[in-house]
Order: sequence, then C-alpha cells, then structure tokens
Amino acid sequence: MPSDKEKLMQKVAGEIDALSQSPLYAFRRENKYQAVVGEGSLDAAVMFIGEAPGKSEAQQGRPFVGASGRVLSELLEEIGLEREDVYITNVVKDRPPNNRDPQRDEIALYTPFLLRQIEIIQPKVIATLGRFAMDFILAQFNLPVTGEKISQLHGKPIAVQADFGEVTLIPLYHPAVALYNRDQRQTLVEDFQVLRQYI
Ligand code: URA
Repeated sequence: MPSDKEKLMQKVAGEIDALSQSPLYAFRRENKYQAVVGEGSLDAAVMFIGEAPGKSEAQQGRPFVGASGRVLSELLEEIGLEREDVYITNVVKDRPPNNRDPQRDEIALYTPFLLRQIEIIQPKVIATLGRFAMDFILAQFNLPVTGEKISQLHGKPIAVQADFGEVTLIPLYHPAVALYNRDQRQTLVEDFQVLRQYI
C-alpha cells in the first residue's frame, strides 16, 4: 500500500507529466524526453533543489544523473550520505532546449509543484544547488537578500519558518562548477561539511 506521502507525490508526478501548457512540453515530446519530478526518500531530512534537468536527466526521467550528478553523489558520499537518504529535485521539471537558463514564466509554472513537494517531504534542510534554486528559495521565504550573490551566501545556513516548522536553508554552488575547477570543488566539499552538521 502506498503511504500518504507516496500518493501525494504520485499526484504531483502525474500532473507534471500531463503539463501540456508548459512551454517545454513540446520539446519534451519531440525528443521523447521525460519530465523529471525528483527522487529519493520522501522522509528525507535534506532536500536538494537544482535548476532544471539536462539531457541525460530528461532521457532517464531522473535528476542529477549526468556529470554534475556524479559530483553530487561524491559530495554526498563524503558526508556519509547516499542519494537514497536525501530527496533530489529541480525548480524546473522539464529540460530547457540547449541547456539554456530557465525563463521566468517556466519557473512560475513549475513553482507550485516544487512547493507541494516541499510540503510533502517537510525537510529539515533545503540545500539549493546553484543561483537559480537559491534565488527561488530566498524569494519563497521572503528573505530580504535581493542582490546578494551566491559567492556571498554559499555555505551559510539561514533559518526560516515554513508552515510545517523550522527549516534551514543552505545555498550551495551548483555541482557543475566543480567539474573543471578544483578550487570550486573544494569550496563545495567545505560547504557540505556545514550541511553535515544539520543532519
Ligand atoms: N543540473 C541541474 O540543475 N539539475 C539536474 O537534474 C541536472 C543538472
């Protein structure tokens, strides 16, 4: 028997799958891509939010399974976590063409789904991966940090109040930055040590 959380998440997944009004829906169908809803434990203490699926993700219907996904798995391993222990999703659930940045209307369209996912999981920690996810989550919690950059905010926990209780937001760089830059990888490793203290 699926749990209540599973049922709620299946409903979110079904609605995203049928989201033909999305500007990214035709691109999904033309390329036989899948929507990427998210995966991991619905009881996770930590929820990771990325930007949007890339090609590998859209082909497999799973978040962070390409090159940045390998970095994310390594970073998790370094703090004793496996992917199954956390929940991983994105702000935008369909792949934007040519990996372009998600547009404002696309973010707005997918926002209610991500908010429902947060409500279902009720994480203790929300770790954002990259600038888009950070800006999204700061705006959701009405944080007066407009204009603050990820270079200033990464690795710095911010306590906020959600409907279901206190949540710690931890902005992180996107794992893709670690692919070609050792210093950035080291920064991510250090920021994951900050995250570790909250699990
Ligand atoms: N980058 C993201 O932001 N999300 C993914 O799922 C993959 C790459």
